[in-house]
Amino acid sequence: MALLTQEDRKYTTPEDICGHLGDEYDKFFGAIVPPIFQNSLFVQPTEKNGVDSNGYVYTRSSNPTIEIVERKVAALEGGDGALCFSSGMAAISSAILYFVTANSHMVLVSTSYGGTLSLIREYMHEKFNIDYTLVDGESIAEIETAIRPDTKLIYVESPSSIVFRMQDLDAVAALAKKHGIGTVIDNTYATPLHQQPLKHGIDITCHTASKYMGGHSDIVAGVLAAKEEIITSIQNRERMVLGNNMDPHQAWLMLRGLRTLPIRLKQHGESGRKVAAFLENHPKIEQVFYPGSATYTQPELFEKYLSGTNGLMSFSLRGKGDNRMKLINELHLFQNGCSWGGFESLCTMAGYSEIKDGLVPHDLIRIHVGLENVDSLIADLAQALDKLDI
Ligand code: PLP
Repeated sequence: MALLTQEDRKYTTPEDICGHLGDEYDKFFGAIVPPIFQNSLFVQPTEKNGVDSNGYVYTRSSNPTIEIVERKVAALEGGDGALCFSSGMAAISSAILYFVTANSHMVLVSTSYGGTLSLIREYMHEKFNIDYTLVDGESIAEIETAIRPDTKLIYVESPSSIVFRMQDLDAVAALAKKHGIGTVIDNTYATPLHQQPLKHGIDITCHTASKYMGGHSDIVAGVLAAKEEIITSIQNRERMVLGNNMDPHQAWLMLRGLRTLPIRLKQHGESGRKVAAFLENHPKIEQVFYPGSATYTQPELFEKYLSGTNGLMSFSLRGKGDNRMKLINELHLFQNGCSWGGFESLCTMAGYSEIKDGLVPHDLIRIHVGLENVDSLIADLAQALDKLDI
């Protein structure tokens, strides 16, 4: 079952959920780590074979290793259940497809992840005539104005993962309910440890587990959590027909990652805050984007919704011209790479081309502060910034 059991509901803290929810030692000969059910099908009972397949038929539909992860995520998010997917985009596209129909309309926050924007603008819109309105997301009045009679979904990402814009989830959920519209959030930045959107009335919360949930940069994976009705429907329809379920080995690695999520996230947050403060006080840095920092532009929403920070932030450089690659070339501990949420520090050029002029700079460097020594990371940034002639 992708749904929480009564026994699962006894685990209430993130540490205990990540560490022990789903342990069934009696089933697996006392193995401290559950086995990988690396099988495509489950033999079904006949009159003579004595098999009890316990409802399992085929791994595209469900698999015991995957379900342990799903129950953990459901408990962390405060949902009835969760579903794992082969990637974050697989989870996001299935959540969106649950709500939209051909020729309908959706409202979409413009700072959403680029892959999600492409999915809607370059695929769903072009192929299925699903119309969309991009909103800044800061003003609830702007979102309400965008709603049309054929609007099926409000899609938000809060905080977003380049400029970390937030939306007021209570207000978005209330507005959607008033109009009979569904809501989906990409909750990857916060993780369910720092924000639980379902508790604020959002219908589906999605993640790429390729980031902090996996945490070791060794899987591309996704997950969503919701109420029972939605979970059952997506499991039987979108996930079943699209065939985008997680692989059991991926699930086993994600399970391993989840066990240390609380402690990893704490360290990423502690180091992240120190690095953000260093950058904010550096004379060659123009602007820092980091939720919870001294210069963060939405402090009320941060206080209301987020219970912690992590290691992801972006910044712009002072001076004329684009000096981003010069800085990246000088860094030693921050490798040039696009992802985040693993053990390692990364840097990449980032920006938005479609955001209204003036809202955010287009030439950002996004860094992920990993689990290396924070003083070494700050020293690396300092020596690289020193070499810039700006
Ligand atoms: N959402 C966010 C915020 C992301 O950063 C990413 C990937 O970078 C995705 C979704 C897509 O996830 P995946 O790469 O696992 O498909």
